[in-house]
Amino acid sequence: MNQRTIKKAITVTGTGLHSGEPVDLEFYPQPVDTGIVFERSDIPGSAPVPANAFLVQDTMMSSNLVFGGTRVGTVEHLLSAIAGLGIDNLLIRVSASEIPIMDGSASPFVGLLLQAGLYEQDAPKKFLRIVRPVRVNVDDKWAELRPYDGFELNFEIDFDHPAFDKDFQHAQLQFSTQNFIEQLSEARTFGFLQDIETLRRNNLALGGSMENAIVVDESRVLNAEGLRYADEFVRHKILDALGDLYLIGYPLLGRFNAYKSGHALNNLLVREVLSDPNNFEIVTFDDNVTCPIEYQPAFGLAVEG
Ligand SMILES: [Zn+2]
Repeated sequence: MNQRTIKKAITVTGTGLHSGEPVDLEFYPQPVDTGIVFERSDIPGSAPVPANAFLVQDTMMSSNLVFGGTRVGTVEHLLSAIAGLGIDNLLIRVSASEIPIMDGSASPFVGLLLQAGLYEQDAPKKFLRIVRPVRVNVDDKWAELRPYDGFELNFEIDFDHPAFDKDFQHAQLQFSTQNFIEQLSEARTFGFLQDIETLRRNNLALGGSMENAIVVDESRVLNAEGLRYADEFVRHKILDALGDLYLIGYPLLGRFNAYKSGHALNNLLVREVLSDPNNFEIVTFDDNVTCPIEYQPAFGLAVEG
Protein backbone atom coordinates (compact mmCIF):
# COMPACT_ATOMS: atom_id res chain seq x y z
CA MET A 1 0.00 0.00 0.00
CA ASN A 2 1.77 3.09 -1.29
CA GLN A 3 1.45 6.84 -0.89
CA ARG A 4 -0.69 8.81 -3.26
CA THR A 5 -0.69 12.23 -4.90
CA ILE A 6 -2.55 13.58 -7.95
CA LYS A 7 -1.49 13.00 -11.54
CA LYS A 8 -1.59 16.60 -12.75
CA ALA A 9 -2.27 20.11 -11.49
CA ILE A 10 -5.88 21.32 -11.52
CA THR A 11 -7.67 24.56 -10.60
CA VAL A 12 -11.17 25.63 -9.59
CA THR A 13 -12.90 28.84 -8.45
CA GLY A 14 -15.51 29.00 -5.71
CA THR A 15 -16.97 31.49 -3.25
CA GLY A 16 -15.65 32.32 0.20
CA LEU A 17 -18.33 31.54 2.78
CA HIS A 18 -17.51 34.52 4.95
CA SER A 19 -16.28 37.07 2.38
CA GLY A 20 -18.76 36.21 -0.37
CA GLU A 21 -15.87 36.90 -2.80
CA PRO A 22 -14.51 34.55 -5.50
CA VAL A 23 -11.63 32.33 -4.31
CA ASP A 24 -9.22 30.48 -6.61
CA LEU A 25 -7.85 27.06 -5.66
CA GLU A 26 -4.90 25.35 -7.35
CA PHE A 27 -3.85 21.76 -6.63
CA TYR A 28 -0.36 20.41 -7.38
CA PRO A 29 1.17 16.92 -7.06
CA GLN A 30 3.88 16.64 -4.39
CA PRO A 31 6.78 14.24 -3.71
CA VAL A 32 6.53 11.40 -1.16
CA ASP A 33 6.47 12.37 2.54
CA THR A 34 5.49 15.99 1.80
CA GLY A 35 2.07 15.67 3.42
CA ILE A 36 -0.76 18.13 2.77
CA VAL A 37 0.43 21.74 2.50
CA PHE A 38 -1.46 24.99 1.91
CA GLU A 39 -0.05 28.17 0.39
CA ARG A 40 -1.61 31.64 0.01
CA SER A 41 -1.30 32.68 -3.64
CA ASP A 42 -2.48 36.21 -2.74
CA ILE A 43 0.45 36.75 -0.32
CA PRO A 44 3.69 36.42 -2.31
CA GLY A 45 6.49 34.86 -0.27
CA SER A 46 4.22 33.79 2.59
CA ALA A 47 5.21 30.68 4.54
CA PRO A 48 3.55 27.40 3.50
CA VAL A 49 0.95 26.23 6.03
CA PRO A 50 1.09 22.48 6.69
CA ALA A 51 -2.11 20.61 7.54
CA ASN A 52 -1.10 20.11 11.16
CA ALA A 53 -3.45 19.85 14.15
CA PHE A 54 -1.21 22.07 16.28
CA LEU A 55 -1.70 24.97 13.82
CA VAL A 56 -5.46 25.07 14.38
CA GLN A 57 -5.90 28.43 16.08
CA ASP A 58 -9.61 28.87 16.14
CA THR A 59 -12.59 26.67 15.56
CA MET A 60 -15.24 29.37 15.21
CA MET A 61 -17.68 27.70 12.76
CA SER A 62 -14.81 25.86 11.03
CA SER A 63 -11.23 24.57 11.41
CA ASN A 64 -8.73 27.33 10.70
CA LEU A 65 -4.96 27.00 10.37
CA VAL A 66 -2.55 29.83 11.19
CA PHE A 67 1.21 29.60 10.70
CA GLY A 68 3.70 32.48 10.74
CA GLY A 69 0.81 34.94 10.65
CA THR A 70 -0.66 33.31 7.53
CA ARG A 71 -4.21 32.04 7.83
CA VAL A 72 -5.99 29.35 5.84
CA GLY A 73 -9.55 28.91 7.06
CA THR A 74 -12.38 26.40 6.59
CA VAL A 75 -10.08 23.53 5.63
CA GLU A 76 -12.25 20.65 6.91
CA HIS A 77 -14.41 19.78 3.87
CA LEU A 78 -11.42 19.83 1.53
CA LEU A 79 -9.34 17.76 3.97
CA SER A 80 -12.22 15.32 4.23
CA ALA A 81 -12.13 14.84 0.43
CA ILE A 82 -8.34 14.42 0.51
CA ALA A 83 -8.56 11.87 3.35
CA GLY A 84 -11.45 10.11 1.63
CA LEU A 85 -9.46 9.63 -1.57
CA GLY A 86 -6.38 8.46 0.36
CA ILE A 87 -4.19 11.32 -0.90
CA ASP A 88 -1.01 11.69 1.19
CA ASN A 89 0.90 14.42 -0.63
CA LEU A 90 -0.64 17.58 -2.10
CA LEU A 91 -0.03 21.33 -2.39
CA ILE A 92 -3.12 23.54 -2.30
CA ARG A 93 -2.71 27.21 -3.28
CA VAL A 94 -5.60 29.44 -2.25
CA SER A 95 -6.15 33.11 -3.19
CA ALA A 96 -7.85 34.16 0.07
CA SER A 97 -7.92 33.43 3.80
CA GLU A 98 -10.59 30.75 3.42
CA ILE A 99 -11.12 27.62 1.31
CA PRO A 100 -14.21 28.18 -0.89
CA ILE A 101 -17.42 26.61 0.38
CA MET A 102 -18.49 25.06 -2.98
CA ASP A 103 -21.85 23.30 -2.34
CA GLY A 104 -21.21 22.90 1.41
CA SER A 105 -20.11 19.25 1.09
CA ALA A 106 -16.90 17.48 0.03
CA SER A 107 -18.35 16.24 -3.25
CA PRO A 108 -17.10 19.03 -5.60
CA PHE A 109 -13.54 18.53 -4.25
CA VAL A 110 -13.83 14.77 -4.76
CA GLY A 111 -14.93 15.29 -8.37
CA LEU A 112 -12.11 17.72 -9.03
CA LEU A 113 -9.37 15.54 -7.49
CA LEU A 114 -10.62 12.48 -9.39
CA GLN A 115 -10.52 14.58 -12.55
CA ALA A 116 -6.85 15.39 -11.82
CA GLY A 117 -6.34 11.64 -11.35
CA LEU A 118 -4.79 9.69 -8.48
CA TYR A 119 -1.13 8.76 -8.73
CA GLU A 120 0.48 5.97 -6.74
CA GLN A 121 3.98 6.85 -5.52
CA ASP A 122 7.01 4.71 -4.86
CA ALA A 123 6.98 4.76 -1.05
CA PRO A 124 4.85 2.97 1.55
CA LYS A 125 1.78 4.76 2.91
CA LYS A 126 2.18 5.48 6.62
CA PHE A 127 -0.77 4.95 8.96
CA LEU A 128 -1.24 6.09 12.52
CA ARG A 129 -2.62 3.11 14.45
CA ILE A 130 -4.32 3.80 17.76
CA VAL A 131 -3.00 1.31 20.34
CA ARG A 132 -4.86 2.48 23.44
CA PRO A 133 -8.10 4.41 23.95
CA VAL A 134 -7.92 8.20 24.14
CA ARG A 135 -10.97 10.22 25.12
CA VAL A 136 -11.69 13.92 25.58
CA ASN A 137 -14.82 15.61 26.85
CA VAL A 138 -16.21 19.08 27.46
CA ASP A 139 -19.50 19.35 29.37
CA ASP A 140 -21.71 16.54 28.00
CA LYS A 141 -19.83 16.37 24.67
CA TRP A 142 -17.15 13.76 24.08
CA ALA A 143 -14.98 12.19 21.41
CA GLU A 144 -12.67 9.18 21.52
CA LEU A 145 -10.37 7.02 19.42
CA ARG A 146 -10.01 3.33 20.24
CA PRO A 147 -7.91 0.51 18.76
CA TYR A 148 -9.62 -1.07 15.74
CA ASP A 149 -8.46 -3.06 12.72
CA GLY A 150 -9.68 -0.61 10.08
CA PHE A 151 -11.17 2.86 10.39
CA GLU A 152 -14.71 3.30 11.62
CA LEU A 153 -16.48 6.54 12.51
CA ASN A 154 -19.56 6.69 14.76
CA PHE A 155 -21.30 9.97 15.50
CA GLU A 156 -24.35 10.98 17.48
CA ILE A 157 -25.97 14.42 17.58
CA ASP A 158 -28.83 15.47 19.83
CA PHE A 159 -30.98 18.23 18.41
CA ASP A 160 -34.36 18.70 20.03
CA HIS A 161 -35.86 20.38 16.97
CA PRO A 162 -38.71 19.47 14.61
CA ALA A 163 -36.41 19.42 11.54
CA PHE A 164 -34.11 16.83 13.20
CA ASP A 165 -35.77 13.42 13.13
CA LYS A 166 -34.87 11.49 16.32
CA ASP A 167 -34.35 8.34 14.23
CA PHE A 168 -31.62 9.95 12.15
CA GLN A 169 -29.29 11.46 14.73
CA HIS A 170 -26.75 8.64 14.74
CA ALA A 171 -24.62 7.45 11.82
CA GLN A 172 -21.68 5.15 11.18
CA LEU A 173 -19.14 4.98 8.40
CA GLN A 174 -16.95 1.94 7.80
CA PHE A 175 -14.21 3.84 6.06
CA SER A 176 -13.15 2.99 2.53
CA THR A 177 -12.77 5.34 -0.41
CA GLN A 178 -15.91 3.92 -1.99
CA ASN A 179 -18.00 4.16 1.20
CA PHE A 180 -16.76 7.71 1.69
CA ILE A 181 -17.79 8.74 -1.83
CA GLU A 182 -21.21 7.07 -1.65
CA GLN A 183 -22.25 7.53 1.96
CA LEU A 184 -20.59 10.73 3.13
CA SER A 185 -19.07 13.04 0.51
CA GLU A 186 -22.34 14.72 -0.51
CA ALA A 187 -23.54 15.57 3.01
CA ARG A 188 -23.83 19.37 3.27
CA THR A 189 -23.14 21.70 6.14
CA PHE A 190 -26.18 23.13 7.90
CA GLY A 191 -27.14 26.29 9.72
CA PHE A 192 -30.04 27.87 11.52
CA LEU A 193 -31.69 30.88 9.87
CA GLN A 194 -31.49 33.00 13.02
CA ASP A 195 -27.74 32.29 13.41
CA ILE A 196 -27.11 33.15 9.76
CA GLU A 197 -28.89 36.50 10.20
CA THR A 198 -26.69 37.26 13.23
CA LEU A 199 -23.54 36.30 11.29
CA ARG A 200 -24.54 38.55 8.40
CA ARG A 201 -24.98 41.50 10.77
CA ASN A 202 -21.36 40.88 11.82
CA ASN A 203 -20.19 40.75 8.19
CA LEU A 204 -19.74 36.96 8.32
CA ALA A 205 -21.27 34.24 6.14
CA LEU A 206 -21.77 36.79 3.36
CA GLY A 207 -21.32 33.99 0.79
CA GLY A 208 -23.69 31.63 2.60
CA SER A 209 -26.89 30.61 0.86
CA MET A 210 -29.09 27.60 0.22
CA GLU A 211 -26.67 26.88 -2.66
CA ASN A 212 -24.03 25.85 -0.11
CA ALA A 213 -25.84 24.89 3.10
CA ILE A 214 -28.95 23.28 4.47
CA VAL A 215 -30.84 26.13 6.13
CA VAL A 216 -33.23 25.33 8.97
CA ASP A 217 -35.76 27.73 10.53
CA GLU A 218 -37.72 27.11 13.76
CA SER A 219 -39.60 24.20 12.27
CA ARG A 220 -38.23 22.87 8.99
CA VAL A 221 -35.58 22.60 6.27
CA LEU A 222 -35.98 25.59 3.94
CA ASN A 223 -34.10 24.20 0.91
CA ALA A 224 -36.64 23.35 -1.80
CA GLU A 225 -34.77 20.16 -2.75
CA GLY A 226 -34.86 18.82 0.83
CA LEU A 227 -32.13 16.55 2.24
CA ARG A 228 -29.68 14.44 0.23
CA TYR A 229 -29.71 11.70 2.88
CA ALA A 230 -32.35 11.23 5.61
CA ASP A 231 -29.50 11.56 8.14
CA GLU A 232 -27.59 14.25 6.22
CA PHE A 233 -26.97 16.39 9.35
CA VAL A 234 -25.11 13.70 11.29
CA ARG A 235 -23.37 12.44 8.14
CA HIS A 236 -22.00 15.94 7.67
CA LYS A 237 -20.67 15.81 11.24
CA ILE A 238 -18.76 12.64 10.28
CA LEU A 239 -17.52 14.38 7.10
CA ASP A 240 -16.22 17.25 9.27
CA ALA A 241 -14.61 14.82 11.74
CA LEU A 242 -12.82 12.95 8.95
CA GLY A 243 -11.28 16.23 7.78
CA ASP A 244 -10.42 17.38 11.31
CA LEU A 245 -8.85 14.00 12.15
CA TYR A 246 -6.69 14.10 9.02
CA LEU A 247 -4.80 16.96 10.69
CA ILE A 248 -3.18 14.19 12.78
CA GLY A 249 -0.88 13.90 9.76
CA TYR A 250 -1.62 10.30 8.72
CA PRO A 251 -4.58 8.14 7.74
CA LEU A 252 -5.95 6.57 10.93
CA LEU A 253 -6.42 2.99 12.00
CA GLY A 254 -8.90 3.08 14.85
CA ARG A 255 -12.51 3.54 15.83
CA PHE A 256 -13.75 7.10 16.30
CA ASN A 257 -16.81 7.55 18.52
CA ALA A 258 -18.29 10.98 19.19
CA TYR A 259 -21.28 12.53 20.89
CA LYS A 260 -22.13 16.16 19.99
CA SER A 261 -18.51 16.79 19.05
CA GLY A 262 -17.36 19.61 16.79
CA HIS A 263 -14.20 21.16 15.36
CA ALA A 264 -12.81 22.22 18.76
CA LEU A 265 -13.28 18.84 20.43
CA ASN A 266 -12.07 16.92 17.35
CA ASN A 267 -8.90 19.00 17.44
CA LEU A 268 -8.47 18.45 21.18
CA LEU A 269 -8.72 14.69 20.60
CA VAL A 270 -6.02 14.76 17.91
CA ARG A 271 -3.71 16.78 20.15
CA GLU A 272 -4.36 14.40 23.05
CA VAL A 273 -3.46 11.36 20.91
CA LEU A 274 -0.23 12.98 19.71
CA SER A 275 0.70 14.18 23.21
CA ASP A 276 1.83 10.67 24.26
CA PRO A 277 3.73 8.33 21.88
CA ASN A 278 2.31 5.38 23.84
CA ASN A 279 -1.12 6.15 22.36
CA PHE A 280 -0.17 5.17 18.81
CA GLU A 281 2.31 3.63 16.40
CA ILE A 282 3.16 4.43 12.78
CA VAL A 283 2.73 1.37 10.54
CA THR A 284 3.00 0.45 6.84
CA PHE A 285 1.67 -2.51 4.80
CA ASP A 286 3.60 -4.51 2.22
CA ASP A 287 0.60 -4.86 -0.07
CA ASN A 288 -3.02 -3.83 -0.56
CA VAL A 289 -4.31 -7.21 0.66
CA THR A 290 -2.90 -6.97 4.20
CA CYS A 291 -3.95 -3.31 4.53
CA PRO A 292 -7.26 -3.17 6.45
CA ILE A 293 -8.51 -0.18 4.43
CA GLU A 294 -9.67 -0.28 0.80
CA TYR A 295 -8.70 2.86 -1.12
CA GLN A 296 -9.71 1.78 -4.62
CA PRO A 297 -12.93 3.46 -5.81
CA ALA A 298 -15.33 0.76 -7.06
CA PHE A 299 -16.11 2.52 -10.34
CA GLY A 300 -12.78 1.41 -11.74
CA LEU A 301 -10.80 4.63 -11.60
CA ALA A 302 -7.24 3.69 -12.40
CA VAL A 303 -4.67 4.69 -9.81
CA GLU A 304 -1.56 5.07 -11.94
CA GLY A 305 2.00 4.98 -10.75
ZN1 LIG B 1 -18.70 21.15 7.86
